Amino acid sequence: MSIDKLSESGGVMVTRLDELLNWARMSSLWPMSFGIACCAIEMMGSMASTYDLDRFGVFPRPSPRQSDVIIIAGTVTFKMAERIKRLYEQMPEPRYVISMGSCSNCGGPYWEHGYHVVKGVDRVIPVDVYVQGCPPRPEALIGAILELQKKIAGESLINS
Ligand code: SF4
Repeated sequence: MSIDKLSESGGVMVTRLDELLNWARMSSLWPMSFGIACCAIEMMGSMASTYDLDRFGVFPRPSPRQSDVIIIAGTVTFKMAERIKRLYEQMPEPRYVISMGSCSNCGGPYWEHGYHVVKGVDRVIPVDVYVQGCPPRPEALIGAILELQKKIAGESLINS
């Protein structure tokens, strides 16, 4: 039974524990306030009043220890890759990764000649959702957050 079909009778609600926890987690995704290059400008725009990510429960946090999502928004250089991995490892589990934009997905415009660029952040940390574009629009990032929420809704406590 999904969380939106909860039976309610005499003030008693019945649901499964993992559905309740998943609902709480998907409704309060806190991404780290962290950006690398131009895609981060679109990410910041997504957080501002026009797109208002607060309505999805998405609040940027200034520390990896308070974050459950990291949005890789920008060009991942080899110099930066080590820092990204360290930040990811400092996040509590369960933790999620959104790869935002062509650079982060595959190296983007630096694919052929960018000797200093990692050809995809998934070579450094696991990615849950990819967002295409150079840069992606805020609507695309919002779509990725909705995809991540769907993924979290389907998770099981037994497997995690
Ligand atoms: S994908 Fe495009 S906009 Fe995003 S960081 Fe790379 S060059 Fe900049």
